[in-house]
Amino acid sequence: MPAGFDLTGRTAIVTGANTGLGQAIAVALAQAGAGIVAVGRSSMDETRALVAPSGRPFHEVAADLSTLEPIARIVREAEAAAKADGSRLDILVNNAGIIRRADAIDFTEADWDAVMDVNLKSTFFLTQAVARTMLADGKGGKVINIASLLSFQGGIRIPSYTASKSGLAGLTRLLACEWAGKLINVNAIAPGYFVTNNTEALRADPERNAAILSRIPAGHWGKPEELGGAAVFLASDAAAYIHGVVLPVDGGWLAR
Ligand code: NAD
Repeated sequence: MPAGFDLTGRTAIVTGANTGLGQAIAVALAQAGAGIVAVGRSSMDETRALVAPSGRPFHEVAADLSTLEPIARIVREAEAAAKADGSRLDILVNNAGIIRRADAIDFTEADWDAVMDVNLKSTFFLTQAVARTMLADGKGGKVINIASLLSFQGGIRIPSYTASKSGLAGLTRLLACEWAGKLINVNAIAPGYFVTNNTEALRADPERNAAILSRIPAGHWGKPEELGGAAVFLASDAAAYIHGVVLPVDGGWLAR
């Protein structure tokens, strides 16, 4: 691996790392050398087992990100874990996210708030809390937000999801502007259509499935492991001069 991509000795917090894209990102970062602090509301046993062959440290912080209540504790526990490994909090991947589907005309306040709270509000305040530690020792770090094609496009039947992911793209740019001069790189990855729980309803609907597949130039749904390289890159020194981008990893969807 070229030296600029090596994450040896760094520690990465990955939220929602128990499954899907978060799990694949945790595994890829560990393979590149990073220790992992996996944050989420479900058991991380599967991810721990997948990270084990890399030999990197793996810590778990149980937390539900639907409110801000656990944020101070997450940072405390993550910092202690990194310190125990002789490391610090170098990388934050804001991956935890939810989606609620209903026609805009029927969409409820509960479905609006639930999605905005996890995808945008908790993401911002966790980032703020972690960035304070990155700024405190002056060494900076890397923040990677998991955005979406709905950061660029409208979609249908997911109003709070589109609002949250469009907001996350804006937040990525704002934080990049504020922190680029302080050695924190803030960027985002916009995954296309990947095979995870998030897209189960789409893949189960034969019409939507065929319509989506026919529009993906690469000709297949993304496999979670196809996202890992972008995360490693943005987490690494190789991306030191990259700030505020939303990088599509979408099989060519947006190019169409
Ligand atoms: P997923 O449903 O498998 O994973 C979502 C993760 O977020 C899970 O680990 C879940 O436990 C966690 N999470 C949700 N609410 C939480 C809460 N309150 N507290 C703590 N953790 C919580 O789906 P995924 O596709 O792996 O989604 C990961 C991210 O990728 C999400 O932000 C999603 O919006 C985004 N995304 C996915 C796709 C796709 O095609 N799958 C496309 C674009 C963006």
